[in-house]
Amino acid sequence: MSARLRIGLVSALPTALVALLARGESLFPLLFGVASTTALATWLFVERPIRRRLLALETQRGELFHSHTTTVEDLRRERDVSSSILETMQEGVLLLNQQDQIVLVNPALRSALLLSAEVIGQALQQGLPRAEVNELVRQARASGKPEAGELVIDGLKPRRLAVRVNPMQTPVGSMLVVFFDVTEIRRLESIRRDFVANVSHELRTPVTAICSATETLLSGALGEPGSAMMFVQIIERNSERLRRLVEDLLDLSRIESKEYKIEGRAVAVAAVVERSISSLSARARQGRVRTDVEIPSTLPEVLADDRALEQVLVNLIDNSIKYCPPGSRVVVKAKAESDAFVRISVDDSGPGIPEQDLPRLFERFYRVDPGRSRDMGGTGLGLSIVKHLVEAMGGEVGVTSRVGFGSCFWFTLPSV
Ligand code: ADP
Repeated sequence: MSARLRIGLVSALPTALVALLARGESLFPLLFGVASTTALATWLFVERPIRRRLLALETQRGELFHSHTTTVEDLRRERDVSSSILETMQEGVLLLNQQDQIVLVNPALRSALLLSAEVIGQALQQGLPRAEVNELVRQARASGKPEAGELVIDGLKPRRLAVRVNPMQTPVGSMLVVFFDVTEIRRLESIRRDFVANVSHELRTPVTAICSATETLLSGALGEPGSAMMFVQIIERNSERLRRLVEDLLDLSRIESKEYKIEGRAVAVAAVVERSISSLSARARQGRVRTDVEIPSTLPEVLADDRALEQVLVNLIDNSIKYCPPGSRVVVKAKAESDAFVRISVDDSGPGIPEQDLPRLFERFYRVDPGRSRDMGGTGLGLSIVKHLVEAMGGEVGVTSRVGFGSCFWFTLPSV
């Protein structure tokens, strides 16, 4: 109720009372009117605004509570996502505080470095006593920039981890150390380096032979029929070796590339074996090596690419003819190994292969006797081409051999 209204009411009331009493009239209607007006005014000007204010405050409180709950939920969700990322990561993660104490280690790093839960809170040198990591952290602190290095882990399964130390802005002075497993990458790099070195070496030998034979011819030997013939034969032999090497390298790179597609069709093994043997019959006759076939007529067909299968067989039979002394025997056999696979083998009665060489025999350029292989026109790639082709057709390769008794190169193919 406004002050002016209140003063008006208060001053008008005694005058009205006196007038009524003078006239001898009842005071009740007046008093009733005053009371109801006062109650109405109180509700209008006091109670209603207070209630409205209270209601607004209540709504505000509700909104505040809701936004607080949402913020807490968001923070919890973010924390869950972060810890789930850290737990799922294959890379190891280590967090250090300003004093180089370990604050966090994710499960990948725990299992890679066999760290216990106690490392949390320990100094880096104590929790992870690896000089390489400590040195990288020291360098990153000194330079304020990321530092990278590698860590070799010995053991049953030796591994190589790339380590990257990243200084962080927040929390101030923290260091994030990330570990990646680069064992496989380094292994492939070393295979590639060896391969390039081997190819260069293999190419250099015939190229050098051709160059020096040509030079000798040009510097006078051309006029001497006896020596000229010898040098021309050197050139022919080495250019043939170069051709074979380039062909095998191209085959290998084609097979290893993603574009190489094996056309799997139902193939009758006996027919491909006959074709392979007849393409090598002149070489077998020349080396006085007998070739036989033992394949049952009931043999199921195989799911294969017949050109790839022929190349596999030619490489294996050719090796047997190449390495077996005159009078040896080579037998191509095939039998159903199970309901799902057919096993094909090339057995010979040749010199055999020492046991220590067997595990590496299918590697590129691996030879038991490099000199003999080169003399026989070998490139050292035949068996690795065999392995790639058989595996591309869904089979496996293997070898059993005993020095002095012969060798058995075998492979399997899915039967139809
Ligand atoms: P290469 O071109 O030298 O023959 P391969 O990859 O075909 O290359 O064979 C690798 C090596 O395996 C050969 O150098 C040889 O030492 C050995 N080898 C392969 N087949 C036979 C076999 N039937 N008997 C004896 N040694 C073999």
